[in-house]
Amino acid sequence: MSSRVYIRVFAHFLAIRRKRDLLFKPAVLLLMVLAVRCLAEGLLFGIDPAQFWQEMLISSLVGSPFLILGMILVTDMETLQGELETLATTDPLTGLLNRRAFLQATNKAKSDGENGILMIADADHFKCINDKFGHATGDLALQEIAHALCDHVATQGYVGRIGGEEFALYIPDGATPDVNEFGDIVTGPHQVPFFDGADQLNVTMSVGATISPASETVEEALVRADMALYRAKAEGRARLIMYDYRVDHPHAA
Ligand code: GH3
Ligand code: MG
Ligand code: MG
Repeated sequence: MSSRVYIRVFAHFLAIRRKRDLLFKPAVLLLMVLAVRCLAEGLLFGIDPAQFWQEMLISSLVGSPFLILGMILVTDMETLQGELETLATTDPLTGLLNRRAFLQATNKAKSDGENGILMIADADHFKCINDKFGHATGDLALQEIAHALCDHVATQGYVGRIGGEEFALYIPDGATPDVNEFGDIVTGPHQVPFFDGADQLNVTMSVGATISPASETVEEALVRADMALYRAKAEGRARLIMYDYRVDHPHAA
């Protein structure tokens, strides 16, 4: 283990998670210091018990407030680190993985030797939705779409928001559903209530999908999924197009 890991483990131990940690953790630390001092002094000089206990008492009284202050600082740093990690990996509007985190998670899944299906789902005519109903309703629509995708995919794979109105989905081989049936779910229409739920807006998605073998990166598969998405848009939107491998590999079976 690297020194960084030891420091993190120690900081994790010092962090205050419950009220009783304020008493329990300093006591454990003081006992550890006491044991080390006992051992060192006993071995090197022989212990004068009266002086030893007097010194320990003074050290504990003087040291405890600093120890507790240190624990509070470590706790704050751990909380801040957790918040930074969430900010760095999560899309704030939808709560999905952001592009970077999606690529990281899916590439990691693939590095275990896993094939899968990669899809890019892009909301249709989203600019018109913003123009007609306002940006706030557009945001609501993106949240609804994220919700629907998560409900159907997140238990089997990964969902991320990789652009404004663009989502990426990755489903590992073992969990691969019937693509056509799944296409119906992803393409929608997704129903978005607006004006206090009094009215409803339907948003469809165009989806480009491709098989992604374990031997390649997710970035490589994204290029093909993007080509298929382009076709889905060109052929009328609200549909899933599977990338045709023979387009790029005309001699493939
Ligand atoms: P197409 O069917 O060809 O994809 O058309 P489109 O209008 O969806 O595509 P276009 O790229 O022209 O416009 C994308 C729109 O998505 C424009 C942009 O304002 C909107 N958008 C991107 N991010 C957000 C967001 O976070 N919130 C809202 N409300 N709109 C967003
Ligand atoms: Mg769009
Ligand atoms: Mg787009």
